[in-house]
Amino acid sequence: MLVVAEKEIGGLMTPEAAFDAIEQVFAAMASDKAYNFPVVREAIGHEDALYGFKGGFDGAALTLGLKAGGYWPNNQKHGLINHQSTIFLFDADTGRVAAAVGGNLLTALRTAAASAVSIKHLAPKGAKVLGMIGAGHQSAFQMRAAARIHRFDKVIGWNPHPEMLSRLADTAAELDLPFEAVDLPRLGAEADVIISITSAFSPMLLDAHVTGPTHIAAMGTDTKGKQELDPALVARARLYTDEIAQSVSIGEFQHAIAAGLIAEEAITQIGAVVNGTHPGRDGAEVTIFDGTGVGLQDLAVAAKVVELAERKGLAQKVEI
Ligand code: NAD
Repeated sequence: MLVVAEKEIGGLMTPEAAFDAIEQVFAAMASDKAYNFPVVREAIGHEDALYGFKGGFDGAALTLGLKAGGYWPNNQKHGLINHQSTIFLFDADTGRVAAAVGGNLLTALRTAAASAVSIKHLAPKGAKVLGMIGAGHQSAFQMRAAARIHRFDKVIGWNPHPEMLSRLADTAAELDLPFEAVDLPRLGAEADVIISITSAFSPMLLDAHVTGPTHIAAMGTDTKGKQELDPALVARARLYTDEIAQSVSIGEFQHAIAAGLIAEEAITQIGAVVNGTHPGRDGAEVTIFDGTGVGLQDLAVAAKVVELAERKGLAQKVEI
């Protein structure tokens, strides 16, 4: 099997390659060529850790495998980031393990690529202002990927912990974009595109805050109970997601579904817009993409990394 170490990923994988891999796999999912397996996520009762597996099979690209890992909230004492994961690929013809790939940077890149795909296909025409809710590890990747796919004039941001806002200011400066910290009513009124990427368990962005046309990429909610948006806002928007089964169970739309405000049939896979089988924004006032994070995203970027690592001689061969 081939091993691609976490430390090599930064030199191999570009945001451009991640974007293409994610757009392609979303399209394959919507045309039933690729599917995700049910997610396993367990509180293991040790170190407050959440551990689990996300896997799938892309029958078009013949990519089979899983990402194993999770969230260890006390990792700072070990000098490690809290999210830890490894992606395993298997030969779809034989079942033999084919590769193990460091999954930490790839998770950030594939998550940012997912919201960027939604921005490419759903942002209102002439969108100028990007609104960021969240200033943690993922937020910088999100902003960079959004700015790569769409030319914004300005970034505005809010975070429940204001002391973290310097991350957004620094990332905007790196992108040569002006940045202003604002309150949520201003963010909802002024941003044409909003990315939310927090660990919140109750709504922050309220229905009354958002004056369209607006596209919202809700990226933080990936577990039962987490929530970033007002269900009333969800109920009046046109709804998209990566994977409907995850959206209604562990994604942002779980809450509007549980409250009976929306039906599952109101949610469209983003890949259908990529494929051109759904018209997308088409005059909608507010669109929301619920990015729950699917195993096929991890497999798509890992397969690309293995291809690049082999080409550059950076994949280690080991017998198993
Ligand atoms: P982080 O720990 O670096 O940052 C956490 C962010 O959430 C900060 O903005 C912080 O201020 C905010 N926050 C923390 N506790 C909060 C609370 N109780 N209420 C409201 N906000 C709170 O985390 P990160 O790596 O930036 O990840 C952010 C979120 O994105 C997490 O929930 C993570 O699980 C999720 N995530 C989703 C995907 C996906 O595919 N959808 C992928 C990776 C991470």
